[in-house]
Parts: sequence; structure tokens; C-alpha cells
Amino acid sequence: MVSRVIPVDPFDLVIFGGTGDLAQKKILPGLYRRFADGQMPAEARIIGAARSDLTSDSYRAMVRDAVSEAIPEGRRNGDTLTAFLGRIEYVTIDATGTAGWTELAAMVRPDVVRAFYFSVAPSLFGDLAKRLNDHRIASRHCRIVVEKPFGRDLASARDLNATLARHFSEEQIYRIDHYLGKETVQNLMAVRFANVLFEPLWNAQYVDHVQITVAETVGVGGRGAYYDKSGAMRDMVQNHLMQLLCLIAMEPPSRFDPDAVRDEKLKVIRALDPVEPKDIVRGQYLANDTLSGYRDEAESPDSRTESFIALKCGISNWRWAGTPFYLRTGKRLKARASEIAVVFKDAPHAIFGQSAGTHRNILSIRLQPNEGITLGVTIKEPGPGGMRLLDVPLDMSFADALGPEASEVPDAYERLIMDVIRGNQTLFMRGDEVEAAWAWTDPLIEGWTERGDAPAPYEIGSTGPEEAAILMHRAGRKWREIRP
Ligand code: NAD
Repeated sequence: MVSRVIPVDPFDLVIFGGTGDLAQKKILPGLYRRFADGQMPAEARIIGAARSDLTSDSYRAMVRDAVSEAIPEGRRNGDTLTAFLGRIEYVTIDATGTAGWTELAAMVRPDVVRAFYFSVAPSLFGDLAKRLNDHRIASRHCRIVVEKPFGRDLASARDLNATLARHFSEEQIYRIDHYLGKETVQNLMAVRFANVLFEPLWNAQYVDHVQITVAETVGVGGRGAYYDKSGAMRDMVQNHLMQLLCLIAMEPPSRFDPDAVRDEKLKVIRALDPVEPKDIVRGQYLANDTLSGYRDEAESPDSRTESFIALKCGISNWRWAGTPFYLRTGKRLKARASEIAVVFKDAPHAIFGQSAGTHRNILSIRLQPNEGITLGVTIKEPGPGGMRLLDVPLDMSFADALGPEASEVPDAYERLIMDVIRGNQTLFMRGDEVEAAWAWTDPLIEGWTERGDAPAPYEIGSTGPEEAAILMHRAGRKWREIRP
């Protein structure tokens, strides 16, 4: 396969929070990979900006360590890394004070794309936005990238949108949800909208149900106090799972352009039904011999915050009325696995008789690990002995289809950052989308808080509380296996 990397325009990318965990683990290693791939023009520059008192040289040493840690030795090159570090500078800055702003104003160049990555706590977004404008560092066409969480409810998301809108237009604001940057997620759109095969079947007449699972093996660990204020619903469902649901459920946009796509996603969120309490299962992992339980790590030993949630959601529109969407996410589960499964209905009439069993087509979109798309089809079991049926995968594994380079597909963050430089907002959330997602989420959280519902306990390494399996069994369905 020929690599088709198209260099972006020259840019100055300022990473506020450039010494933080996200910058070191994702943003800077991602930028290194784009550099190594030849996507950064000679005039591209990255400016780390954070509170720590560092020189550009000591910051470069920090970035060298971060890239070396994140990218295995065989995949990085010493000379390339040194050249990459040559693009990096640092400024000590205080988001809430005066330090560093004059220096930053002198560093950014005219006539190149200006982008500011807010990789800091959301409580600092307003301060950064204001100072960028006060010091005339923000240009008319500059872009800002904001990280999750975008609010903790509708009111705070509205406040945050209003704060940013005081200083930047919607076209300048890139709200990141890294799930949208995953290769398979974009492939999902290609599979749906570039083939005639699936779209005619993509509705309640042919789809029995959809399952979206994001399973993690990690616990909340040292982030327990922070996570306890959030929980799986706020941390994962309101953003990542909701975005995946939108891409599955949305109508074909008229064009693959930012507003056409986001308009269709917004319509899906607005068509989501409220979820009844009987269709919500929340859980907390218990301790085992070696690992602590959720309540040991949370802020309070009586915490009612969920580390697992499963929901049955309905979408009230012509396409989906009657087809449930099951969402499930949790920590300390059996395996790290994210998958969307579109489970089609049974064939209307079984001509092969009862002994052939029941078979269903399932389109499985794996987000991690082993990104790929598999369509389960039913065939005749080879050999003599009558008409026995067998389900086999029609595998669209990128590695097989595209060769070894497929395993080198850009990570979600690096793709999204390049989209920011290109000025393409398609894979970023618009303000009204985020607000609509919270407007659906808030009453669910308020409901279980008012009722005083306690999360059900589950074992570490399991698939979540038994109640989640029952949620499916009630309708004669079952969850897909959580496979690594
Ligand atoms: P972190 O605590 O590791 O880093 C915070 C950074 O902010 C540091 O560089 C620090 O110097 C800087 N900072 C703090 N106060 C400042 C001030 N007054 N002025 C200037 N700089 C200041 O945080 P993180 O984990 O890197 O997360 C950053 C953001 O990204 C947060 O909004 C977080 O929710 C989000 N996020 C992080 C991850 C992750 O994997 N770490 C994943 C998704 C989203």
C-alpha cells in the first residue's frame, strides 16, 4: 500500500498543560508520529505551555522521554526524534495570572495556522480563552481544542459554551472526543454510506438490536476521588458511547462535511427516549484478593457512583422505533474490548428446519483492540451429512486487507490534531450536540439519585452485575462476549 500522507499547512500549536499526563502520553507522541510520517511541514512548531518552571531544553528532554516511553524502540528513530524536538519550545505560563503571556505573544508567528490545545482542567478554559484574547494571541482564524469533560450536566455545559463563545466563534472551537478519531469509527461511516449493501437493511425492519460495549480492565485507582464525582454515565456514556450510537443511528448526511454530519447526529440525540429505571443497571466492582474494590478507591466508602452501567435505549423516529440500543461500559471487567454489534433479525422463514438451528447476521465493529469490521454470515457446514448450518465471519480486518501498513494507522489523537490544523470540524462535537447529550443524561442521573438507587456489586474480571445479563434476557437476547 502506498502511503498517502498529505502535509498540512505550517502551524504554531500551543499545548496548554504541555507537561501533563495527556500531553505526554498521547498528544506529543502522536505529533511525533505525524512528524515521522512527513505530515508536518518544515515551518510547523509546537509550543508547550504549563505552570512548571522549565527551559525549552529541559522541556525537550521531557518530551524525548515521553515519546520514548510511548513508542516502542523499533518504531522510532533517534535522528527523527531529534529533528522533531527541534520543532519544540516551551513557555512557563499561568492560566489564571500574568506570567508568561507576553512571552507567548512574542513567540506565535503571523501567517501560520494558530491552534491552542487546552489540555488542562476545564475550570481553566475560561481563563485561557480570555487571556488569549486580552493579549491578542488569538487571531481571527485561530482554533482552540478542548478536552473532556465538557461540563458535568446541562447547566455547566451551557456555562462552558457561553464562556468560550465570548471569545471564539463555534467554527473555532474543537471539542474533542477521541473515539471519533478512531480508524474504525470512520470506517463505519464508509461502510454505511459508500456501499449499497447495508443501508437498505439499516433500520428497525431488519435490525433486531444494537449493542455498544466499552469494557475496561483498569479500575479507578488513584483517580478514585475525581471519578467518584462523575461515574460511568458522565465519564463514558454521555460522550463516547453516545457518539458511537449517533454514528450508527444517524440518517445519511447529504455531504461529508462538518455541519451536515453534526446536524444528523444531533437529530438522533434529540430522538432518544428517556430511559425507564427498569432499563438501567448500575454496578460497582468488589475487591478481590489482590485488588481493591470501587468503594475502597472512591471518595466515600458509601459511594453510590457507578463504575459500570448498562442501558436499554430507544430512538423515536421512523428508522429505529422498536429497535433497542443497548449500551454497556464498565471498569475492572473481563477484558479490554470495545465493540459495536449490529444484530440483524432472523430470516423470516427457516427453510432448513429446526435441526439447522437459529442463525443471525451480526455486523461487528471492533474499536479496540484489533480494529476491524466483521460480518457474521451463515453458510453450509462443509462436507457430507445434510444441510448443517454454520456462522462464519466475513472479516474486514485492516491488517489482512491492507497489508502491514494497516497496523500503522494513526492513533485517534494524532488524526484529530491534524484535522484541527486542516480546519476540519467533522469529527468534533458541536456545542448544541453536547448540550443535547446532557439534556438526555441529566434526568437519568437525577432519577437514580432521587430514588436512592444503590449500584449492584460485581466481581472483578466479570462481565458486570448479573442484572445486566437479565436486562438482555428479559427480551430473549444476550450480550456479546467480552473478548480481548
Ligand atoms: P494533568 O493534571 O496531568 O496536567 C495538568 C496540566 O495543566 C499540567 O501541565 C499543569 O502544569 C497545567 N496547569 C495546571 N494549572 C495551570 C495553570 N494555572 N496555568 C497553566 N497551566 C496549568 O492533567 P491531564 O491528565 O493531562 O488532563 C488534562 C485535561 O485533559 C483535563 O481536562 C482532563 O480531564 C483531560 N483528559 C485527560 C485524559 C488523560 O488520559 N490524562 C484523558 C481524557 C481527557
